[in-house]
Amino acid sequence: METRVEKVNLESPNATAIRLAAGLLRDGEVVAFPTETVYGLGANGLDDAAVRLVYELKGRPADNPVILHVADAASAKRLVSEWPQCAEALAEKYWPGPLTFVLRKSSIVPEVVTAGGPTVAVRVPAHPVALALLREFDGPIAAPSANRSSKTSPTLADHVLRDFDGRIPLILDAGPTDVGIESTVVDLTGPVPEVLRPGRITPSQIRHALDGDVRVHRGDAERLSSPGMLPRHYAPTARLILLEQDAPLPQEAPPGKTAYLTLAQRRDVRADVCVFMPNSPTEYAKRLYATLRDMDDQSVGVILVDMPPDTEEWSAVRDRLRRAAH
Ligand code: AMP
Ligand code: MG
Repeated sequence: METRVEKVNLESPNATAIRLAAGLLRDGEVVAFPTETVYGLGANGLDDAAVRLVYELKGRPADNPVILHVADAASAKRLVSEWPQCAEALAEKYWPGPLTFVLRKSSIVPEVVTAGGPTVAVRVPAHPVALALLREFDGPIAAPSANRSSKTSPTLADHVLRDFDGRIPLILDAGPTDVGIESTVVDLTGPVPEVLRPGRITPSQIRHALDGDVRVHRGDAERLSSPGMLPRHYAPTARLILLEQDAPLPQEAPPGKTAYLTLAQRRDVRADVCVFMPNSPTEYAKRLYATLRDMDDQSVGVILVDMPPDTEEWSAVRDRLRRAAH
């Protein structure tokens, strides 16, 4: 199969490419498209066989559910059996946007989407191309990140091409994604909302929008209701060594080609490649995955990373770095 890469303009998404993509989805095919977080590997979310194909292409374990993307909150409501007040409030404030809700599923959602579970993850993405595609397709699109399972998520169409060239018919290319890391996932099925996966939207922002309590799921509990919680999930080939700000620095450079991802104040770390990372959490997140892929391309064996501070605004970046280092 030949993989077509169609450039789409952000301001006025090329109608022909969008129609082509929607037609392929209707035919049960898998197409890659940009969202504001990372590129997604999309299939008709109500077509059991098409969603299975996404799992197969990614090499994704069947017990790891996928997110359904929809054009608006009204479409999300059809996929769930309960729409609590907190969902209404968060949708109003953050949709379209990088916030995924976990809710009780309705009967139209295939088991394969939820990995057999009673809950479904839904989101309205804030990317003009994703929204144009959702409107044209006129149904939910199941879309995990467009990478092979356990690899770094794609923030460029070229990243998608590397994993899926010849295996999917179409990639919509809208340039680099804005957020750069996966969406925040919040479980709204219990009495207190719980953030399962950190992302650009922070627990404080959610708390503020709800004017109520929000829990944050802490790391390595045995409960694996959110696949983003699988310990190794965003990993480059190179080994990462995380340098906490108050921890002693390594005295000797590790063997092989090394890289050093540094923040504002460069510390006394010796490495073959030095990369200055942005000092803002949103800019850092935007650059993170492409930087890790660059290091792999440069055959770096070990990446030494200055860990950003242990504050809420950095928690999503710290989470992805820890997973990459696992
Ligand atoms: P990916 O799109 O590859 O980043 O992975 C899909 C994400 O969807 C996971 O990281 C989960 O956080 C989330 N997810 C999907 N379905 C569910 C669900 N039923 N319960 C909890 N999390 C879910
Ligand atoms: Mg993923």
